[in-house]
Amino acid sequence: MQVFIAKEKESEKRVAAVPDTVRRLVRLGLSVAVETNAGVGSAIPDAAFEEAGATIVGPDAISQADVVLRVQSPPKETIAQLKKGALHISFLNPFSDSSPMADFASASVSAVSLEMMPRTTLAQKMDALSSQASIAGYAAVLMGADASPKILPMMMTPAGTIQPAKYFVIGVGVAGLQAIATAKRLGARVEAFDTRPVVAEQVQSLGAKFVQIDLGEMGQTEQGYAKELTPEQLELQRQGMAKVCSDSDVVITTAKLFGRPAPLLLTKDMLKGMAPGSVIVDLAASPTGGNVEGSKPGETVITEEGVQIIGCDTIENHSAQDASLMFASNLVNFIEHFWDEEAKTIKLDREDEIIAGCLMTHEGAIVHEKFANA
Ligand code: NAD
Repeated sequence: MQVFIAKEKESEKRVAAVPDTVRRLVRLGLSVAVETNAGVGSAIPDAAFEEAGATIVGPDAISQADVVLRVQSPPKETIAQLKKGALHISFLNPFSDSSPMADFASASVSAVSLEMMPRTTLAQKMDALSSQASIAGYAAVLMGADASPKILPMMMTPAGTIQPAKYFVIGVGVAGLQAIATAKRLGARVEAFDTRPVVAEQVQSLGAKFVQIDLGEMGQTEQGYAKELTPEQLELQRQGMAKVCSDSDVVITTAKLFGRPAPLLLTKDMLKGMAPGSVIVDLAASPTGGNVEGSKPGETVITEEGVQIIGCDTIENHSAQDASLMFASNLVNFIEHFWDEEAKTIKLDREDEIIAGCLMTHEGAIVHEKFANA
């Protein structure tokens, strides 16, 4: 079986394999082809892949591959090049754009969407959303710190005492927890809020303060995701957070709702209450709107009051090598988990909970229950 590691588009620095995962694939008996310069954005030269047992190939070699690994959804013309019956594993963003699914189905390619990986203990090792969210939470703090005119830790010097910076993390999922841990390690005073009350304990165990806002009934779905708030609850939340925001040097927003647009949490009015020089890092920024009014993905917007809003796009690119390492491990964990040693192939058992959760297309059709009849 031939595995092809694709070079991503120019703006994506991550790559879906690292030398260690190439070795693991080769050990399984797969032959690995890596597209020329696929690892450049992550500072992994072609020679490192070759040393690990891969062959370096041109882009057209994708048409011979049985398995294609990549980070982002491929362009339409690349899908058309794929071999019938091939397996394609990547993020696909199925809630924002369903067209790749239709293209995979008509090319008779089995496409796995990593966003749809079930949040179960068994699937944790293959959960790329989580591994990349950890990197994103860490990187958000560094980006916020870099843009802020203030240092994070308390400093007592003969020149005077500097108070620790105040960081406020909104949304305490995987990214939020990592942001809290990173800001604490660097010496900031950290507060956090999430609509899932169960996370209060986790926030406190990291040494941060959980902001209490009474929103009435809240909670989470079976998969552990937040439930959507009513407009009245959202308004109450904004009121409850306004004072904390105005006291903060850096606010990091990570609040997302699975399969739906992110909630708008910081309005222009709230931003007016923040001090000049303060920074907001919006990890949920997207073309359909993020957590912060006026944030733009991939751009830094400065308000009239001098508040910087950093709209994150693929923030994982900030630490691309380690992001690639975790992403690539998730993919090989998936392949190893479903590897049939006797048949030397990946077994796509559609009765399996993980496969049923993340397999979008198979044998010429869209098969995922959420999208099949959409
Ligand atoms: P996410 O990226 O979907 O959302 C980030 C956070 O935003 C969540 O904590 C969510 O509760 C919060 N949020 C949503 N609306 C909000 C609002 N109005 N105000 C403030 N916060 C808001 O979440 P995630 O990081 O993917 O994690 C979701 C859940 O899944 C968590 O409970 C996490 O622990 C769990 N999880 C489980 C596994 C597993 O068991 N394998 C793996 C990863 C995550």
